[in-house]
Amino acid sequence: VNDDTLHRLLTADGAVRVECVRLSRAWREIRAGRHYAPSARDVLGELSAASVLLAGALKFDGALVLQAQGPGPIRLLVVECTSELALRAAMKGDERVADIGFRELLNADGHGRLSLLLDPRERAPGREPYQGIVPLSGDSAAAALEHYMWHSEQIPTNIHLAADAEVAAGLLVQRLPGSGDEAHEETWRRVQALAATLTRDELLRDPCDAMIRHLFHEVALTALAARPVVARCTCSQEKVNSMLHMLGEAEVESVLVEQGQVTVHCDYCNRAYVFDAPTARSLFAATAGPSAGTQPRTVH
Ligand SMILES: [Zn+2]
Repeated sequence: VNDDTLHRLLTADGAVRVECVRLSRAWREIRAGRHYAPSARDVLGELSAASVLLAGALKFDGALVLQAQGPGPIRLLVVECTSELALRAAMKGDERVADIGFRELLNADGHGRLSLLLDPRERAPGREPYQGIVPLSGDSAAAALEHYMWHSEQIPTNIHLAADAEVAAGLLVQRLPGSGDEAHEETWRRVQALAATLTRDELLRDPCDAMIRHLFHEVALTALAARPVVARCTCSQEKVNSMLHMLGEAEVESVLVEQGQVTVHCDYCNRAYVFDAPTARSLFAATAGPSAGTQPRTVH
């Protein structure tokens, strides 16, 4: 009950928001079938935990996407968390790269970027999702995110993240907008100072409720309803069909000539969608959609 749950609290005076998540099962499921090097794996885990902490505050139905892009060896890390706290993640680049630090992994040339995308499910036609982009500054995913929250949102935020082969965990403390009251400022300073004493080992080891009790025992906190987090991909046959349709008949035909079938792998969950020639061609037939009897297979 404690793991894979977003724990949310407020200081009694309403000045500061505290959120904690410790992903264990969801983190294992995200990595199922993958063989990431430890350093790359840990950054992906940290961003996964961060996306849950940030998605917990979404005020709309949809998804929050965190994307870190750089020159390599990891070119892209992308983590998506929906407002229902369904999480998926993907990595592009050399996943088996040697054990090197955050900067060498993603920002070797200093031009790496971090972006945060807010993608409402019900988006007005033609309306682009909101996207904020900042340079990948600092030596950790947490530092890059704090920089982002301050420079794009002007929200004072402290984020602590850690991940290993078993667990991806995070703690977020954030000043809530509202009064600039001196008492509220004092609460913020105290919560921040207490959060700063948290070690990486504690974050990985301790269940959220025990960690919060231990860290903030001298602060009056009100717990809000905890929310479950699951690993779940949103890919579907329908989306892959329409993706192939957009790719165009000529392109699909050239793959069929070369390979005899079309296989699409989901970047997130690695599921394979396989189309034999009649099924692939039926996507471009006058009657939209594959005909009955030649349904594409989904390979798990
Ligand atoms: Zn998928």
